[in-house]
Amino acid sequence: MNTLNQLETLSKVYDPTSFRELGHELIDLLADHLEKVQYDNNASVINYRTPEDELKYWQEDFNSGDKGIGFFKNILDHSISVHHPKYMGHQVAVPSTIAALSGLVSDLLSNGTGVYDMGMASNALEKIVTNFVAKYIGYDKNGSGILTSGGTLANLTALLAARRIKSPSDVWNDGHQEKLAVMVSEEAHYCIDRAARIMGMGSSGIIKIPVDTNFRIKTNVLEEYMQIAKSDGLKVIAIVGCASSTATGSYDDLDVLADFAEKHDLWFHVDGAHGGAVVFSEKYKHLVNGINRADSVVIDFHKILMTPALNTALIFKQRSDNYKVFEQKAQYLWDSQSTEEWYNSGKRTFECTKLMMSIKVYSILKTHGTDVFEKNVNRLYDMGRAFSKMIKERSDFELAIDPHANIVNFRYVGNKEQPQDYNQLNDNIRQRLIEDGKFYIVKTTIRTKRYLRVSIMNPMTTEKDCGELLDEIEKIGCDIYKITEC
Ligand SMILES: *Cc1c(COP(=O)(O)O)cnc(C)c1O
Repeated sequence: MNTLNQLETLSKVYDPTSFRELGHELIDLLADHLEKVQYDNNASVINYRTPEDELKYWQEDFNSGDKGIGFFKNILDHSISVHHPKYMGHQVAVPSTIAALSGLVSDLLSNGTGVYDMGMASNALEKIVTNFVAKYIGYDKNGSGILTSGGTLANLTALLAARRIKSPSDVWNDGHQEKLAVMVSEEAHYCIDRAARIMGMGSSGIIKIPVDTNFRIKTNVLEEYMQIAKSDGLKVIAIVGCASSTATGSYDDLDVLADFAEKHDLWFHVDGAHGGAVVFSEKYKHLVNGINRADSVVIDFHKILMTPALNTALIFKQRSDNYKVFEQKAQYLWDSQSTEEWYNSGKRTFECTKLMMSIKVYSILKTHGTDVFEKNVNRLYDMGRAFSKMIKERSDFELAIDPHANIVNFRYVGNKEQPQDYNQLNDNIRQRLIEDGKFYIVKTTIRTKRYLRVSIMNPMTTEKDCGELLDEIEKIGCDIYKITEC
C-alpha cells in the first residue's frame, strides 16, 4: 500500500462527517432502546444465551462483512439492560443519560488526567466533585481525595495509606519488617482480603471478625481479637468498617469502630463502595453515623449514584495523607513529589493515564441538581423496605434479614408441610428466571442457605414490578413442585 492510500484510510478513522452521521444514528438507536426497555411491557431484561452460543454468534459476526450501525444494535440485543425496571440484579448503577453522553465526550477527548496539562478541566472538576463528597461525609476543609477506577482499587489505595501512616517501619523503602495485619468483618467484600494479600500481609494479615445476626461486625469481640493478634506477634495497622456489606447490605457500627481505632491508634477505613452514598440522604445518613471520624472513605458512584462504571471516590480526612501514599519520583511528569499539587492528580493515585471520570459526576449534579443523589438513594432504600414488607406478607417466602439498604435476600419455601431441598429449589427458580428473561435477579449463599438476591438499583422499579416478581417466582415454584392448584 502506498503512503497516500495509507493516509486516506487513516483519515477515515477520524472523519468528522461520518462521525456526525453515525453519531446521530447511534443516539437514535440508544434512545429507541431506552424507550423500549423502560416502557414496553414485553421487552426482556436479558435474552439469555449460553456462553458457547454467544461466542459462536460473535465469531460469525466478526467474519461477516457487515459494517455500520447494525453491529451496535446486535450488541444491545445481546446485552443485559440495566435500564429495564425489572433489572434487580448485581449492584451496578443505572446510568443517567447525561453521564452516558459525558462518557462520549470523555472518550473523544481522551484526556489522561494524571498530569494537569493532560486534563485541565478534568482535574478541576475532579477537585470540585471530591470536595463535594468530602463535605457530605462531614470532613472539614482538610478533607480531600481522588477519583479512581473502582472500589477495589480505592480500597487497596486506602490500605496503602494505612500502611504508610501506621506501620512502625518504612515499608515503601525497606519492605516489611513487622507482620502487619488489618481487621475487618467476615462479611467484607473480597477485595479487602485481596488487597491485604497483594500488600504481602498473607493469610494471617487479614483478621476476620465475626458478625451478629444482622451481619454487622460484632464489636464486643474486637478487644479479644486484638489481644490474640498481639500474642501472635501481629501489628494491626487498620480496621475496616463495611457501609454496607455486599451480600446483605448491612452497616457496621462505625462510631464504635472509630472509638476502637482511636484507642489502638489504628487507621480507620470505611468501605462505603455501595452504601456510603447514604451520606447524601437526610433520611438514611444515620446508618453511617461516625463516618466523619474515618481516616479514609470509599464511595462508588457506579453503585447507587446513577453513574456508569467505573467511577469511585476515595476521600481522606487529611489531604496530606493522600500525598504520602505513593512517594516516588516521576521526574518527567512533575518536578517534586513532596509538594501538594491538587491539579496533578497522578501523584495521589495508582493510575498513570486515568479516565476523565469527573465529567460524569459533574454533569449529573449540574444537570439534575445537587440533591439528585439524595432522591435516588431514598427511592432505592425505600423500595428495598417496601419489597421486604411484601415478602413478609406471603407465607411461602422467607426473608433473610430486614434490609438496611436496597439489598433484599429471600427464598421461596413453598408449602412448608412438604419440605424440600430449598437450596436446589431456589437455584432452579433463579435459573428459570434468567432463561425466561422477564426479570433479572441473582442469588447468594448465607450461612449455607441459598437465597434469591434482589438489589433495587433502578429508581423506575415499582412495587408493581416487585409484586410481579414474587408472583412469577410462585408460579415457577409451583411448577417445580408440581402443585396442581396453582
Ligand atoms: C462493589 C463493592 C466493592 C468493589 O468495588 P468495585 O467498584 O466493583 O471494584 C467493594 N466493596 C463493597 C462493599 C462493594 O459493594
